[in-house]
Amino acid sequence: MAFIQMSFVTPDKPMVTADYLMGKFDPAKHADFCKIDAKYATKPDMYLRKEAYDAFTKMADAAQKEGIRLSVLSATRNFEYQKRIWDVKYDKLKDKTAWARVKKILQYSAMPGSSRHHWGTDIDLNNLENTHFEKGEGKKIYDWLVKNAATYGFCQPYTAGRKKGYKEEKWHWSYTPLSKEFTAIAGKYIKNEMIEGFKGAETAVQIDIVTNYILGINKECF
Ligand SMILES: [Zn+2]
Repeated sequence: MAFIQMSFVTPDKPMVTADYLMGKFDPAKHADFCKIDAKYATKPDMYLRKEAYDAFTKMADAAQKEGIRLSVLSATRNFEYQKRIWDVKYDKLKDKTAWARVKKILQYSAMPGSSRHHWGTDIDLNNLENTHFEKGEGKKIYDWLVKNAATYGFCQPYTAGRKKGYKEEKWHWSYTPLSKEFTAIAGKYIKNEMIEGFKGAETAVQIDIVTNYILGINKECF
Protein backbone atom coordinates (compact mmCIF):
# COMPACT_ATOMS: atom_id res chain seq x y z
CA MET A 1 0.00 0.00 0.00
CA ALA A 2 2.87 2.33 0.77
CA PHE A 3 4.09 1.75 -2.78
CA ILE A 4 0.74 2.79 -4.26
CA GLN A 5 0.62 5.96 -2.18
CA MET A 6 4.14 6.80 -3.26
CA SER A 7 3.19 6.51 -6.91
CA PHE A 8 1.37 9.81 -6.61
CA VAL A 9 4.49 11.67 -5.56
CA THR A 10 7.47 9.85 -7.09
CA PRO A 11 8.68 12.10 -9.92
CA ASP A 12 9.61 9.32 -12.37
CA LYS A 13 6.13 7.78 -12.18
CA PRO A 14 3.17 9.27 -14.03
CA MET A 15 0.74 11.28 -11.96
CA VAL A 16 -2.65 9.69 -12.28
CA THR A 17 -5.95 10.34 -10.57
CA ALA A 18 -9.20 8.39 -10.45
CA ASP A 19 -10.61 10.84 -13.03
CA TYR A 20 -7.71 10.07 -15.36
CA LEU A 21 -8.17 6.30 -14.96
CA MET A 22 -11.88 6.79 -15.66
CA GLY A 23 -11.05 8.41 -19.00
CA LYS A 24 -12.09 11.95 -18.09
CA PHE A 25 -9.54 13.65 -20.36
CA ASP A 26 -8.69 14.17 -24.04
CA PRO A 27 -5.66 12.09 -25.10
CA ALA A 28 -5.12 14.41 -28.11
CA LYS A 29 -4.43 17.25 -25.67
CA HIS A 30 -2.57 15.33 -22.96
CA ALA A 31 1.18 16.05 -22.75
CA ASP A 32 2.07 12.42 -21.91
CA PHE A 33 0.41 11.02 -25.04
CA CYS A 34 1.47 10.76 -28.67
CA LYS A 35 -0.24 9.87 -31.90
CA ILE A 36 0.28 6.38 -33.35
CA ASP A 37 2.12 6.51 -36.68
CA ALA A 38 0.08 5.44 -39.73
CA LYS A 39 2.41 2.51 -40.41
CA TYR A 40 1.27 0.83 -37.17
CA ALA A 41 -2.39 1.84 -37.35
CA THR A 42 -5.61 0.97 -39.16
CA LYS A 43 -7.13 4.42 -38.68
CA PRO A 44 -5.93 7.96 -37.93
CA ASP A 45 -5.94 9.83 -34.63
CA MET A 46 -5.20 7.03 -32.20
CA TYR A 47 -3.13 7.80 -29.11
CA LEU A 48 -1.03 6.04 -26.47
CA ARG A 49 1.07 7.18 -23.54
CA LYS A 50 4.55 7.87 -24.93
CA GLU A 51 6.27 5.15 -22.89
CA ALA A 52 3.73 2.52 -23.98
CA TYR A 53 3.98 3.67 -27.61
CA ASP A 54 7.76 3.49 -27.55
CA ALA A 55 7.61 -0.09 -26.26
CA PHE A 56 4.95 -0.99 -28.81
CA THR A 57 6.99 0.32 -31.78
CA LYS A 58 10.02 -1.70 -30.61
CA MET A 59 7.82 -4.80 -30.38
CA ALA A 60 6.13 -4.19 -33.75
CA ASP A 61 9.51 -3.57 -35.47
CA ALA A 62 10.94 -6.77 -33.99
CA ALA A 63 7.84 -8.70 -35.11
CA GLN A 64 8.12 -7.21 -38.60
CA LYS A 65 11.65 -8.64 -38.93
CA GLU A 66 10.11 -12.08 -38.43
CA GLY A 67 7.36 -11.42 -40.96
CA ILE A 68 4.69 -10.65 -38.34
CA ARG A 69 2.71 -7.45 -38.85
CA LEU A 70 1.18 -5.98 -35.69
CA SER A 71 -1.38 -3.30 -36.40
CA VAL A 72 -3.36 -1.27 -33.89
CA LEU A 73 -7.15 -1.36 -34.28
CA SER A 74 -7.89 0.66 -31.16
CA ALA A 75 -5.81 2.36 -28.47
CA THR A 76 -6.85 5.06 -26.00
CA ARG A 77 -10.57 5.60 -25.72
CA ASN A 78 -11.73 8.23 -23.26
CA PHE A 79 -14.98 8.18 -21.27
CA GLU A 80 -17.00 9.92 -23.99
CA TYR A 81 -15.72 7.54 -26.68
CA GLN A 82 -16.50 4.47 -24.55
CA LYS A 83 -19.92 5.90 -23.74
CA ARG A 84 -20.75 6.18 -27.45
CA ILE A 85 -19.78 2.51 -27.97
CA TRP A 86 -21.70 1.41 -24.86
CA ASP A 87 -24.91 3.34 -25.52
CA VAL A 88 -25.15 2.09 -29.13
CA LYS A 89 -24.83 -1.52 -27.91
CA TYR A 90 -27.34 -0.88 -25.13
CA ASP A 91 -29.91 0.59 -27.53
CA LYS A 92 -29.59 -2.41 -29.87
CA LEU A 93 -30.58 -4.82 -27.08
CA LYS A 94 -34.11 -3.49 -26.64
CA ASP A 95 -36.79 -5.93 -25.33
CA LYS A 96 -34.45 -7.03 -22.52
CA THR A 97 -34.09 -5.88 -18.92
CA ALA A 98 -31.32 -3.41 -18.04
CA TRP A 99 -29.52 -6.22 -16.19
CA ALA A 100 -29.66 -8.60 -19.21
CA ARG A 101 -28.50 -5.87 -21.60
CA VAL A 102 -25.58 -4.88 -19.39
CA LYS A 103 -24.42 -8.47 -18.79
CA LYS A 104 -24.51 -9.14 -22.53
CA ILE A 105 -22.43 -6.03 -23.37
CA LEU A 106 -19.98 -6.83 -20.56
CA GLN A 107 -18.94 -10.02 -22.31
CA TYR A 108 -16.53 -7.94 -24.41
CA SER A 109 -17.07 -4.23 -23.65
CA ALA A 110 -16.36 -2.19 -20.55
CA MET A 111 -18.69 0.26 -18.87
CA PRO A 112 -17.53 3.84 -19.53
CA GLY A 113 -15.24 4.79 -16.65
CA SER A 114 -13.98 1.22 -16.13
CA SER A 115 -12.10 0.43 -19.35
CA ARG A 116 -8.36 -0.22 -19.51
CA HIS A 117 -8.52 1.60 -22.85
CA HIS A 118 -8.90 4.83 -20.83
CA TRP A 119 -5.36 4.46 -19.50
CA GLY A 120 -3.21 4.95 -22.61
CA THR A 121 -1.51 1.61 -21.95
CA ASP A 122 -3.79 -0.85 -23.74
CA ILE A 123 -4.23 -1.74 -27.40
CA ASP A 124 -6.34 -4.00 -29.60
CA LEU A 125 -4.28 -5.68 -32.31
CA ASN A 126 -5.06 -7.01 -35.80
CA ASN A 127 -8.53 -8.58 -35.38
CA LEU A 128 -11.42 -8.56 -32.88
CA GLU A 129 -12.30 -12.27 -33.20
CA ASN A 130 -10.53 -14.96 -31.17
CA THR A 131 -10.99 -17.42 -34.05
CA HIS A 132 -8.75 -15.24 -36.24
CA PHE A 133 -5.85 -16.05 -33.91
CA GLU A 134 -6.50 -19.80 -33.85
CA LYS A 135 -5.32 -20.73 -37.36
CA GLY A 136 -3.08 -19.62 -40.24
CA GLU A 137 -1.60 -16.11 -40.21
CA GLY A 138 -3.56 -15.11 -37.10
CA LYS A 139 -2.18 -18.04 -35.12
CA LYS A 140 1.36 -17.10 -36.16
CA ILE A 141 0.75 -13.59 -34.83
CA TYR A 142 -0.77 -14.79 -31.55
CA ASP A 143 1.96 -17.39 -30.98
CA TRP A 144 4.59 -14.67 -31.58
CA LEU A 145 2.90 -12.39 -29.03
CA VAL A 146 2.62 -15.14 -26.41
CA LYS A 147 6.32 -15.86 -26.84
CA ASN A 148 7.66 -12.30 -27.17
CA ALA A 149 5.26 -9.64 -25.89
CA ALA A 150 6.48 -9.87 -22.29
CA THR A 151 10.00 -8.93 -23.44
CA TYR A 152 8.57 -5.54 -24.44
CA GLY A 153 6.37 -5.21 -21.33
CA PHE A 154 3.08 -6.39 -22.84
CA CYS A 155 0.64 -8.85 -21.25
CA GLN A 156 -2.77 -10.25 -22.31
CA PRO A 157 -5.20 -9.27 -19.52
CA TYR A 158 -8.22 -11.19 -20.80
CA THR A 159 -7.03 -14.76 -21.12
CA ALA A 160 -9.17 -17.91 -21.28
CA GLY A 161 -10.11 -19.74 -18.10
CA ARG A 162 -10.53 -16.79 -15.71
CA LYS A 163 -13.49 -16.95 -13.33
CA LYS A 164 -14.33 -13.23 -13.51
CA GLY A 165 -14.69 -10.42 -15.99
CA TYR A 166 -14.69 -10.19 -19.76
CA LYS A 167 -14.38 -13.19 -22.05
CA GLU A 168 -11.06 -14.11 -23.62
CA GLU A 169 -9.62 -11.43 -25.93
CA LYS A 170 -6.58 -12.60 -27.85
CA TRP A 171 -6.29 -9.15 -29.45
CA HIS A 172 -6.05 -7.02 -26.29
CA TRP A 173 -2.55 -6.29 -24.91
CA SER A 174 -1.47 -4.08 -22.06
CA TYR A 175 1.80 -2.29 -21.30
CA THR A 176 2.33 -3.51 -17.74
CA PRO A 177 5.24 -1.30 -16.55
CA LEU A 178 2.50 1.37 -16.35
CA SER A 179 -0.74 -0.60 -16.25
CA LYS A 180 0.19 -2.77 -13.27
CA GLU A 181 0.40 0.37 -11.22
CA PHE A 182 -2.75 1.82 -12.80
CA THR A 183 -4.63 -1.41 -11.98
CA ALA A 184 -3.60 -1.10 -8.34
CA ILE A 185 -4.60 2.57 -8.16
CA ALA A 186 -7.91 1.90 -9.95
CA GLY A 187 -8.69 -0.96 -7.54
CA LYS A 188 -8.09 1.31 -4.61
CA TYR A 189 -9.62 4.62 -5.71
CA ILE A 190 -12.39 3.81 -8.19
CA LYS A 191 -15.63 2.86 -6.45
CA ASN A 192 -18.60 1.21 -8.16
CA GLU A 193 -20.73 4.24 -7.26
CA MET A 194 -18.42 6.45 -9.35
CA ILE A 195 -19.13 4.41 -12.52
CA GLU A 196 -22.09 6.36 -13.91
CA GLY A 197 -23.29 8.65 -16.69
CA PHE A 198 -24.42 6.11 -19.33
CA LYS A 199 -27.33 3.75 -20.04
CA GLY A 200 -27.77 0.94 -17.49
CA ALA A 201 -25.21 2.46 -15.10
CA GLU A 202 -27.53 1.73 -12.15
CA THR A 203 -26.36 -1.91 -12.32
CA ALA A 204 -22.65 -1.11 -11.70
CA VAL A 205 -22.80 -1.43 -7.91
CA GLN A 206 -24.66 -4.75 -7.84
CA ILE A 207 -22.43 -6.25 -10.53
CA ASP A 208 -19.38 -4.99 -8.60
CA ILE A 209 -17.56 -3.74 -11.67
CA VAL A 210 -14.38 -2.93 -9.76
CA THR A 211 -13.84 -6.42 -8.31
CA ASN A 212 -15.22 -8.48 -11.17
CA TYR A 213 -14.16 -6.50 -14.24
CA ILE A 214 -11.39 -3.97 -13.47
CA LEU A 215 -9.59 -6.51 -11.26
CA GLY A 216 -10.88 -9.66 -13.01
CA ILE A 217 -7.78 -9.96 -15.21
CA ASN A 218 -5.01 -12.46 -15.90
CA LYS A 219 -2.92 -12.57 -12.72
CA GLU A 220 0.29 -12.18 -14.76
CA CYS A 221 -0.82 -8.66 -15.69
CA PHE A 222 -1.03 -7.51 -12.06
ZN1 LIG B 1 -9.41 -3.92 -25.98
